[in-house]
Amino acid sequence: MFRFNKLVTLTSVAVTLLASPLATASDLKVVSTFSIISDFAENVGGDRIALTTLVGPNNDAHTYEPRPIDVTAVKNADLVFANGANFEGFLGRLIQASGSTAKVIELTEGIQLLRNAHDDDHDHSNDQHHDDHHHHKNHKHDDKHGGHTHHHYDSHTGGHNHSHGEYDPHAWQSVPNARIYVNNIAEAFCTADPGGCPSYRENAKSYDAKLIMLEKDLEALVSEIPLDKRTVITSHDAFGYLAQEYGFQFLAPQGASTGSEASAQTVARLIQQIKQQQASALFVENISNPQLIQQIANETGMKVGGKLYSDALSTEDGDAATYIDMMRHNLSTIRDATLNQ
Ligand SMILES: [Zn+2]
Repeated sequence: MFRFNKLVTLTSVAVTLLASPLATASDLKVVSTFSIISDFAENVGGDRIALTTLVGPNNDAHTYEPRPIDVTAVKNADLVFANGANFEGFLGRLIQASGSTAKVIELTEGIQLLRNAHDDDHDHSNDQHHDDHHHHKNHKHDDKHGGHTHHHYDSHTGGHNHSHGEYDPHAWQSVPNARIYVNNIAEAFCTADPGGCPSYRENAKSYDAKLIMLEKDLEALVSEIPLDKRTVITSHDAFGYLAQEYGFQFLAPQGASTGSEASAQTVARLIQQIKQQQASALFVENISNPQLIQQIANETGMKVGGKLYSDALSTEDGDAATYIDMMRHNLSTIRDATLNQ
């Protein structure tokens, strides 16, 4: 009987090794909230991690409703990677419901977050918000919460709460910020799995080198766009960091969250701006309903200049299957549209 048990044990070990030759005992169970940070995590984690993504390609994290399998994934996770800055409105409830004890890492930690450019209840007809936007760009994000909704006390309006946060969460749209995400991921992996640290650091370093090359390519693309053609329109305010990096102005009928409705006034004002030729191109987004942009195109006679990837990657066979492809695609699409309009 003893011999038999021992034999069974040895056989299952052998089978396990054959089935996944690269797996190690230290495989970290990692949950990432959305596709863009999953790409970073895969690049850094390599074969040492088992990764689950909650909000997949072309899906919208702003309005995401978790599924039962997400509860299981979070419950079993060692580490949860989130963007933070109130991007994943669903995450606090999900973690609570799962009873997970996983460490939640907000990858925007250490990034200078921008204030939300839009506040839906305010009238922006005087365009003051663009000045505000730059004025507040060095405002330090000091929110250390674990993904739960934080309260936004707005001094202008007497302290009511918004469904979105005070800061613009879309920090990944700047490559220098992406490099901070990657560094934060490597540090989190090193803490959770010290044995793999040299490998995580090495992977992060080689991915970082690609990001530095990407920055150079993007600068070259942007330099082809005349300065007076850098005002463009998208569905929601996802490109504030790209705008800051490259001197664009992005206008959007929706605010910083796709969960907010575009007001009739905002849409009317955008149409007015286009008619006065103050905007050079118009884009749909992969995660947003294209209807509103199509309506603006119809009313102004402006062509839709293509699709930008804002808050999610494409599927494997699409134009933006990786972060690097996404950034190249977005900026070459903007360049082509502004030059051909
Ligand atoms: Zn967004």
